[in-house]
Parts: sequence; C-alpha cells; structure tokens
Amino acid sequence: MDIIELSAMEMKTKLKNRELSARDIVEAHLERIEEREGELNAFITVTEEKALEIADKIDRKMKDKEELGILAGIPIGIKDNIITYGIKTTCASRMLKDFIPPYESTVVERVIEEDGIILGKTNLDEFAIGSLTDTSYFGATRNPVDLDRSPGGSSGGSTAAVKAGEVAISLGSDTGGSIRQPASYCGVVGIKPTYGLISRYGLVAVANSLDQIGVSGRNVLDAALMLEAIAGYDKKDSTSVDMGPVNYLENLKEGIEGMKIGLPKEYMNIDIEPGIKDKLMKAIKIFESLGAKVEEISLPNTEWALSTYYVIAASEITSNLSRFDGIRYGYRAKEYETLDELYINTRTKAFGREVKRRILAGTYFLSNKHVEEYYKKALRMRTLIKEDFDKAFEKYDIILSPTTPNLPFKQNVDNDPFIMAKSDIFTVPVNLAGICAMSIPCGHIGKLPVGLQIIGDRFGELNILKAGYAFERHSSIGGDK
Ligand code: GLN
Repeated sequence: MDIIELSAMEMKTKLKNRELSARDIVEAHLERIEEREGELNAFITVTEEKALEIADKIDRKMKDKEELGILAGIPIGIKDNIITYGIKTTCASRMLKDFIPPYESTVVERVIEEDGIILGKTNLDEFAIGSLTDTSYFGATRNPVDLDRSPGGSSGGSTAAVKAGEVAISLGSDTGGSIRQPASYCGVVGIKPTYGLISRYGLVAVANSLDQIGVSGRNVLDAALMLEAIAGYDKKDSTSVDMGPVNYLENLKEGIEGMKIGLPKEYMNIDIEPGIKDKLMKAIKIFESLGAKVEEISLPNTEWALSTYYVIAASEITSNLSRFDGIRYGYRAKEYETLDELYINTRTKAFGREVKRRILAGTYFLSNKHVEEYYKKALRMRTLIKEDFDKAFEKYDIILSPTTPNLPFKQNVDNDPFIMAKSDIFTVPVNLAGICAMSIPCGHIGKLPVGLQIIGDRFGELNILKAGYAFERHSSIGGDK
C-alpha cells in the first residue's frame, strides 16, 4: 500500500481500523516531502518535529481508546498567510520572513482540535497577490503535473503539495480565484466558501471584503471533510455568520436529480481555449445524464467584473498593507535618518514588485481626486454584479463555467500582469458577490488538467458539494474514496 496515494478519508479509516498508525502516515508524507521539495518548492517551512509529536499523541489517544477528531491522522498543509502560533508565518514576503506569531488563527485552532496533523506552511505569491506562485521571496513553486509550468496562484504551494502527495489536504485563501485557479491547473478539487462561513481571524488581510479561507483536496469528499472541520461562527471575526452546524458529509451523496443548473451566455462569449470549451460541454452532458436540468442564463454585468475586482482589490490592498511600516512588526530598514525615511526604505526594500504595483494603483484609486471615478464606481458595480447572481439563484441551484479560460501558464514565460488578470475572469465575480464556488477536475488536454467551476449561492455549499460529488463519480476522473 502506498500511503501517500490514499485519500484523506482512507487514511482516517485505516487509522481507525489500526491498519496504519498516525506515525506511519506522517513519516510517509515527510519522506515524500524530502523527495519532491527540491523540484517543487511547495513549502516555506516544514514542521517535521511538531508533526511527529502530534502523530504520537494521536497514536496514544488511539491506544487509550479516547475519542478522535474528524481530521485524525490526516497530514495537512497551511498556506503561509494563515497565522500559526509559534510557527513562522511569512506571507512569502521579505517583510515577514522571520515573523513568529504570538497567537493562533481560528482555522488552525480547529484543525488542531480535530486532530489534524500540520506538516508545514506552504508557498504562495507574496501576500497572496498574484496568479503563478512566482512572486514569493522564497522562490517559485512548480506544477507537479508539468515542472515547466506554474501551479497557478496564489495558493500554488498548498495545491501543488496536495497534488504531489506531500499532504492529503490543505488550506489556502481565495481573494479572486487563488484556490480555484491553482486547483484547476494542478488537477485537484478547490473550494472557495461563502464569505462569512469560515473565520478569517488570523488570515493576513489583503483585500478583506474579498478574502476567504478555503480548502484543496484530491477529491470532493476530502475537501468536504476539511470544510466541515473549519466552518462555523467565530466571535473573533465580525464578518463571520452563525449558520448553525453544517452536515456536508452526511448529505452530499443525495444526488442531483432535478437540480437546476444555469449556464451564463456571457461566459460563452469570452475568449476560451477551444479544448476547454469542449470539456465544459462534455461536463454539461454528464450533469444532464444525472437528472439535472441545464439552461442558458444571463449575468449581464460580467464584462465589468475584472475592472471592478482590480479596483476594489488594489484599494483594499493599499489600506491593509499600510500596517507594514517597519515599526510594529516585520522587516525594518537599517538605514534611515527621519521617520519618513524609515517608512520609505523599509517598504521599498521589503515589498516585491507586484505588491508595490497594487499599492500604487490602490493609492491612485483612493486619492481624493479619483475616488469617485474609480473606487466608488467599483463599489456600485459590485452591487450590480451581486444582483445578477441573486437573480440567477432565484431560479437555479448552481451555475457552471470553466474555472479559467486557459491551461496552466509556462514558468518564467507567461507573466504579463494583464494576461494574468484576464485569466481571473470566471473566478473574481464569485468573490465580488460573496458567494461560493468549487473547481473540480473535468479532464485533460494532453497531460494538462482542466477545471470545471461549480458556483453556488450564499451558503449554498451543500449544492456545490452534491453536484461535484455526483460529477466526480460519474466522469471517471475522480473517486469515491
Ligand atoms: N490573481 C488574483 C490577484 O492577483 C487573485 C489573488 C487571490 O485570490 N489571492 O489578485
């Protein structure tokens, strides 16, 4: 049995049946990390000792017949913009390269409570801004499917680690597609939950009205398991919503007979690589064969989504990253004479190019002279985009689209910021509207994976999980594990 090829669910069962110990599972994954990290660079920090310590604790609990949490024995990666108490949290930036947080994020607290085993902190674009996981201060991550390609971004480390079997599940963050786009490019399942379902306490904010913590797994059940573990109200996050307990795992196998699916006609006019459109059409046929009804719908404000997103995201980035001033925490420039020079030299030295580009753009959008023309207009557009979805969800349960209009980008070749931005066209509307979506593998072109995006209404996670699960089982690309 190759332990790293088991799904998270299978690991859990084998631990329970005493076919494997938590130590066996962790050791196999640490070995895999050792083997693959040289070429992948999916991790910034591997917490080997701590992981083995927790594994032994779980094995002891098993021996003593203590009750175990729902993530017991499962190796997990955490994106390095999610705070971990006592473990370096860098945001892949020189600014925080040595930052050791004095507190715990709520999601990590829940992972630990459920006996999950954290193997380390995964690589990302600096401050989760980007699309290739190549702006990291710690070097780029590569795509395990094709080492000449990027895994996508910004949660490229979390996603590559799952694909390569370095961990079974991971946590990432998604502001405009950063979990779904890499999931599509690496061929795994990635979920961006509804804004408010998962506590953001301890997620380093970049564009806080869009940011959401989410999950990646090798199949829908694994992703749903992690989602169930971390979802729920948290009084430490004022945007968290109390929806009561969730029961995804129990209900997601219900089937999709009679489900109503919308296919936005505006999405079909977007420049999509032809092979990707074919995969979408094939997926639609599968959904129909499972008893769902697919109809064309309209999301008339789609064409404004990218500009709206980039104005709002940059404005919030400017404001959130102003806290990195060289005084409170993180990097401080050595040479300065005045306070202004301290700020300027610190930020000049410790932020990378893409982060600076966004800060500059956001400062412009928020400036007295331009705030009406850009920022306030973008806020009004955001409402219209959200209303498009509200209207669609009055009649439909889910909406389908490709996750991205293109295949994974080549490393060090495709890095034009405008091309990157365009590739977010199907993912950013979901963040603007605060709703949920999943990317699920729907086939390959050559060896490169293609992702299907299943969009659900606010707190419609069960619908997207049901649809994803049914699709995965019947498209012979995933597994019921
Ligand atoms: N690619 C998008 C951006 O650069 C999304 C980033 C994200 O979701 N964190 O803004």
